[in-house]
Amino acid sequence: MPNTTLKKIGVMTSGGDSPGMNTAIRAVVRACAFYQIKCVGIRMGYEGLIQNQMSELGARSVKHIINRGGTILQTARSKSFRTKEGREKAYKNLKNNELDGLIVIGGDGSFTGANIFYQEFGVPFIGIPGTIDNDIFGTDYTIGYDTALNTVIEAIDRIRDSATSHNRVFFVEVMGRDAGFIALSSGIASGAQDILIPEKEDSLDELFKSLYKSEQSGKNSSIIVVAEGEELGNVYDLAKATEARFPDYDVRVTVLGHIQRGGNPTCMDRVLASRLGVAAVEGLLEGKTNLMAGLRSNKIVFTPIEEAIKKHNEIDQELIKVAKILAV
Ligand code: ATP
Repeated sequence: MPNTTLKKIGVMTSGGDSPGMNTAIRAVVRACAFYQIKCVGIRMGYEGLIQNQMSELGARSVKHIINRGGTILQTARSKSFRTKEGREKAYKNLKNNELDGLIVIGGDGSFTGANIFYQEFGVPFIGIPGTIDNDIFGTDYTIGYDTALNTVIEAIDRIRDSATSHNRVFFVEVMGRDAGFIALSSGIASGAQDILIPEKEDSLDELFKSLYKSEQSGKNSSIIVVAEGEELGNVYDLAKATEARFPDYDVRVTVLGHIQRGGNPTCMDRVLASRLGVAAVEGLLEGKTNLMAGLRSNKIVFTPIEEAIKKHNEIDQELIKVAKILAV
């Protein structure tokens, strides 16, 4: 057993939900049971800490959740936690419940909250990256990303069946307000004609050239995958501009939306969430704090939380090249 003075820790999910959060909760709870410390589940992220909504979780209380999407603890975006009064209330409840540390499963906003809480009250914490966007520095993959990708490619495969039958151009919007990771990987995996993401400079001219090339080369459908945060315009604007340029094209739009957040986590997300959950508990027990547990080159690594918050994973230029070459 790692050296520790910790007796009881809290676990919460915060920010946007992602598939695999339940697997991570289970891993945290079971690792606590293994190392014989108490674990408390805090409901609705920081809001639950403020409203004192928490209860002890034993190893058996997390049975049958390894495969379930969403989060049994629920999640919330807490406005009150952004205020000093809210955080003071949260700290009082934390002390009354004798919690010695926190494990926060969420995105960079959730880590920012935990970091401020640490600066003010010295509560040790470890973050676990749970978001479908894969936009957190310090880990190759975030929990939920792989599941979201699989949901997206299944949907695009179905769209392609319809697109091919009618000779259509489909603009498919996928999640990613600031990051194009989902769009780029799902676009490659579904054979998209073009992929539009905020990290690369796109132009209508290039898009039209690509569509024209697709038609000339004998393709009978084109899928254009567009990240939510694409700067050239949203899918409706892009479809409109395409119709104006090519009046004989049959152009359609699909916005995949929240189906991307749901569903049973994939094997990859379950293994990732299990490893990060155990690593986070072990990290806290070893006296680590203000760190995010992540996976780099298939090894567990801890990254200072400020870096995880401030830095961003770069889009892999090789993937952009592959997408371009394969759209020939
Ligand atoms: P996602 O990537 O899915 O959006 P996230 O963790 O980044 O997840 P946010 O809504 O940004 O989601 O943050 C989650 C919660 O963390 C907020 O609702 C708030 O309670 C807390 N939080 C975020 N930023 C701060 C801050 N500057 N000060 C205090 N608390 C914060």
